[in-house]
Amino acid sequence: MPRLDLTHIVIHHTGAEEKDTEQIRRYHMKLGWQDIGYDYVIEKDGKVVEGRSLSVQGAHAGVTYYNQHAIGVAVIGNLSKRDIYPEQLSSLIELLKNLLVKYHIPIKNVLLHREIKKTECPGDRFPKATVMAALEEYFSPKPGPEKPADPNKELEKLLAMLQEERKKNQILQQRVKQLEKALEEIQGIILKNR
Ligand SMILES: [Zn+2]
Repeated sequence: MPRLDLTHIVIHHTGAEEKDTEQIRRYHMKLGWQDIGYDYVIEKDGKVVEGRSLSVQGAHAGVTYYNQHAIGVAVIGNLSKRDIYPEQLSSLIELLKNLLVKYHIPIKNVLLHREIKKTECPGDRFPKATVMAALEEYFSPKPGPEKPADPNKELEKLLAMLQEERKKNQILQQRVKQLEKALEEIQGIILKNR
């Protein structure tokens, strides 16, 4: 079955402290699944590993719609027993940002597994508020580089500049007059001496 258009992301924990993604893959395939159930796995050191291909239906949600339309992201560990490691949290947030952008998924469609099915997953210590706040902050429109100028202040500035230019102009005009006068005098003297 191909995966249909991607509308959601569902977050899981694995519930155990597996060594790596391969261990989970072997376990899921032993269950008779064609591949690991999750699409992305965040290992204990924060490494993000690709799991099942997004071109085939997922096997993570236990709910048909979400296996067809949601990307399943799992954090290795039991997040009812311990907090998510900081490396895992930052990798998870980065991965979610990238997936939301790539597949045009709205933030509100990032769900915890327990929000769509009766389960503890991803553990009662999962910091959803922190994750959502980080996503909101990342996608919120940034304020512009400058506030629009105050027209009264602009006017004052322009008037001051104009006055300055007029003063310079006056000085130049006086200088031109002085030079013209000096020229006339010299021309007079030359004429007289001829
Ligand atoms: Zn789950």
